[in-house]
Amino acid sequence: MAVYKAPRGTHDIFGQLALALEKLDMISRKMFKKHNFKEVKTPIFEDVNLFTRSIGESTDIVEKEMYVFEDRKGRKLALRPEGTASLVRAYIEHNFNQTEPVGKFFYSGEMFRYERPQAGRYRQFSQMGAEYLGNPSPNADAEIILAASEILKALGIKDIKIHLNSLGCSSCRAGFRQKLVEYFSSIDDLCEDCRRRLEKNPLRLLDCKIDAAKFQNVPTMQECLCSDCKTHFEQVQNLLKSAECEYEINHKLVRGLDYYTRTVFEIRSASVGSQDALCAGGRYDNLVEELGGMKVPSVGFALGCERVLMAAEKNGFFNGLNDGEIVFIAVADQELFYHAFAFSNKLLTNKDNIADALGFNGNIIIEGPFNDKSLKSQFKLADRLGAKKTVIFGKNEFDNGKIVIKDMVTKEQKEVLYKN
Ligand code: ATP
Ligand code: MG
Repeated sequence: MAVYKAPRGTHDIFGQLALALEKLDMISRKMFKKHNFKEVKTPIFEDVNLFTRSIGESTDIVEKEMYVFEDRKGRKLALRPEGTASLVRAYIEHNFNQTEPVGKFFYSGEMFRYERPQAGRYRQFSQMGAEYLGNPSPNADAEIILAASEILKALGIKDIKIHLNSLGCSSCRAGFRQKLVEYFSSIDDLCEDCRRRLEKNPLRLLDCKIDAAKFQNVPTMQECLCSDCKTHFEQVQNLLKSAECEYEINHKLVRGLDYYTRTVFEIRSASVGSQDALCAGGRYDNLVEELGGMKVPSVGFALGCERVLMAAEKNGFFNGLNDGEIVFIAVADQELFYHAFAFSNKLLTNKDNIADALGFNGNIIIEGPFNDKSLKSQFKLADRLGAKKTVIFGKNEFDNGKIVIKDMVTKEQKEVLYKN
């Protein structure tokens, strides 16, 4: 018999991790909503050209990481490698520029990239992201950066660092590209990737992991920013300062997607090893137009849930994760099984306020009854489940209109009135 395993780079999520993801989802949704970002759920696959056009031909994602396939009618589709392109597609398709007074959206879901799997890098992973469309002002950049860092802080991640840079606009970036090409051409032992990208996408060389040490005194974008881009960048920084948000300028931060203009940022954490970027984003003033819409200057971020949880775990996020307290329904006499079953259902729906009347407040989880186990094995099961209370249906008590509630911690038992 073949033994099946989850495909390389994917994994099953269960136990503590499933609970942690749920908590992450709750906390981040709360934050998105406070900032008035509205949820958009887009399909998991899209026309491959949507990604090629937006992310860029000579990026890692498009060159080697996309899952591309043809459907039965020969349509060329790709599993989404990121969320922004789809969101922009939806924005154009549904004319959100006319229906939404403020273009603030968030998404969350699985992304797919064919990468070499390692800690914090998978082939299927989850991202949550926010996009602020149609606002060219620096306050949109600042709000996006603040929202991202507030989520990370709300998860208890203390050691985050915001790396900030500006990539300028299409006019001033040309000068920077030129300077970079001249600079890199003077280095003769560039790695294969860098040599290939030098003409097409010289900015990408700045974050080459292999050649990084060879790049001393590299020209910076700051020297090349036009006055509008410079002012924009300064204002973003002033706004961040006014919100007491610490950041550092990182001249080598270029990001792996071609659509960014002006502000780019990454939020890194020292607690997760080499895949330390928890969250990344930036401004994309031309993307909507490039995908067939109007000129809609925009800015957004995406955070990687798995990496964020790795960092959050180091900061105690997984302590005390639970769904609630288990109440176990046990049957001492199987004659009463149907009564016990009906009771468990009443408790579940809190019919006639029965849960409150019996003192089961807060989040309770109900397990049982079982009709194929001795009382002893029911108690054993209750213990293994970590039940806080067990409700026991016994013949003598039930005939007197009562049931027994046992506190599994103190082992105390008390009889309470129960009329079915
Ligand atoms: P990296 O430089 O680590 O490859 P990236 O620039 O490709 O990241 P983005 O496309 O900006 O990443 O995605 C935003 C976030 O999504 C990253 O900061 C990271 O937390 C997460 N992420 C990206 N790729 C993966 C992956 N393969 N597995 C898990 N998380 C990922
Ligand atoms: Mg990557």
